[in-house]
Amino acid sequence: MIKKLAITGGTHGNELTGIYLVKRWRQNLTLLKRESFEITIRLMNLKAIKEGRRYVDHDLNRSFSLKSLSDNNLETYEAVLAKEINTLLGEKGSIHPNVDFIVDLHTTTANMGLSIVVSNDSKLTWEAIAYLTIMEPELKVYRWQGDEEGAFVDSIAPNGFAIEVGSVPQGVLRADLFLKTEALVYHLLDFIDKHNKNEVLNLPREVEIYDHEELLDYPRNEEDEIVAMVHQDRQDRDFSLIEKGDPLFMTLEGETIYYEGETLYTLFINEAAYYEKGFAMTLAQKKVLSLVF
Ligand SMILES: [Zn+2]
Repeated sequence: MIKKLAITGGTHGNELTGIYLVKRWRQNLTLLKRESFEITIRLMNLKAIKEGRRYVDHDLNRSFSLKSLSDNNLETYEAVLAKEINTLLGEKGSIHPNVDFIVDLHTTTANMGLSIVVSNDSKLTWEAIAYLTIMEPELKVYRWQGDEEGAFVDSIAPNGFAIEVGSVPQGVLRADLFLKTEALVYHLLDFIDKHNKNEVLNLPREVEIYDHEELLDYPRNEEDEIVAMVHQDRQDRDFSLIEKGDPLFMTLEGETIYYEGETLYTLFINEAAYYEKGFAMTLAQKKVLSLVF
């Protein structure tokens, strides 16, 4: 039974879709109203939102590991904020959490379409995802075990995931992606309501996922500067196969660097926020996950 769900926007201050969805819902809370559970909406990184940047001191969506939440010496803006949010929407790992489900709204400059980034393996999280893949057949599911384990916003609740929609530049609102994100949230709320009311849902027993394999960095020189860009043949080909010998990067001299790894799928290609994190794209395996309900 889900008693309370949180929808969070503006975890990254330059991703406007989630920020403006929260504003829209604040003006009209009836859009979110469902009979069987309570919903809370929250703008997350207010200072970064005001300044139109991803974060102030460091990435808020990497600030929720148990280690940093319990480190009293961490006093950066986001570290303090993460602890406040954990008190309100967590606490992480608690058997009596304040919120049962968190959906965190993001956008990406990569051509990810409508996608979910999930690290949680709870039964309810995956039932919700199974339902959403039926309601929105274009939805892609990326199971992330990326740069920092268990440090996402949604990790402080027992169930949850991030919605990641693109491509849209940082600091830009696009109505089409705004509406897609909004519709996906409403499907999620409908699912929770039906689940709470024990409605028979005939959920699919299998979900196609992209399972995280590795982070792929740009070619760099000895000073750690990027010396090549994503090749034009790879740009925008998120959720596409990449095979040995495929063009991957183009150097400033116009030379092509070819992919040499095993056959995988490329995701988050050329995401603006990942230049500083040191990856040009991520690589994933496509799998069919069997779900037991
Ligand atoms: Zn984001």
